[in-house]
Amino acid sequence: MTFSKKKLKLSDCPYCTGKGYYQLLLGGSETCYQCQGSGRKHS
Ligand SMILES: [Zn+2]
Repeated sequence: MTFSKKKLKLSDCPYCTGKGYYQLLLGGSETCYQCQGSGRKHS
């Protein structure tokens, strides 16, 4: 697994590291269901 090191902000969603989506192994991406693509952590 190769995750790029990105500094997480406190407001960033920890599941998708603030990107709003997951990178899939087979290619492409899937919207993060935890933040619904916003990349922000719910308060
Ligand atoms: Zn997320």
